[in-house]
Amino acid sequence: MVEIKKLSKVYKMSNSEAVRALDNISLSVKNGEFVTIMGSSGSGKSTLLHMIACVDVPTSGTVLIDGVNIHKIPAREQAVLRRQKIGIIYQSYNLIPTLTVEENIILPLLLDKRVPDKEEVENLLELLQLQDRRKHLPNQLSGGQQQRTAIGRVLLEKPSVLLADEPTGNLDSRNTEEVMKILQDTNEKNGQTILLITHDEQIGNMAKRKIILKDGKIL
Ligand code: ADP
Ligand code: MG
Repeated sequence: MVEIKKLSKVYKMSNSEAVRALDNISLSVKNGEFVTIMGSSGSGKSTLLHMIACVDVPTSGTVLIDGVNIHKIPAREQAVLRRQKIGIIYQSYNLIPTLTVEENIILPLLLDKRVPDKEEVENLLELLQLQDRRKHLPNQLSGGQQQRTAIGRVLLEKPSVLLADEPTGNLDSRNTEEVMKILQDTNEKNGQTILLITHDEQIGNMAKRKIILKDGKIL
């Protein structure tokens, strides 16, 4: 469960006026829900995701994940939470160019000193339709395959909360459909909670629940 209470984020610039990116937002997302977030550019979508991902601190308000006030725990515990509970997918794939598909996917586990389960990696490559691309380097892949690799890297860590910031923003319609199908599958099969930002009305409407932001507020 993700519970957001009276969350505000104000960016204070050195010599210009402050930007209120999030304005007193309250929102609660149950385990296993698939929520899409829409809204025009600058409405606060990415800021909201960053607060939930614990990569930036709110100005006021709280974010609870499974009852834990994530911005109030020590940095060391936040790092563990980010590694084990929260997964984030961006529009750009951020793959390591010198590592293969398979190596990119297992890297976070290795960095976390965990041993990847061979069968899980196989199942994941199958879900992502990347079995025959496992030895490819990122620059030998299509955009869709790169994004699927980036998604695999996050899914192998089995986060209970999956955040996605316009994950299909660089993809054509066929690859967009494939990526969305993977996310819907993992949401249904593994019960992951998903919050996904999109500009695409059609994708926005795929989820049971759609949230629209405007000027840092939920409409
Ligand atoms: P969206 O993702 O909906 O396009 P953002 O959350 O990125 O919007 O930004 C919301 C507002 O906050 C915008 O006006 C943006 O310019 C401002 N903003 C975002 N990040 C920063 C930052 N690091 N410093 C200052 N202002 C920021
Ligand atoms: Mg954004």
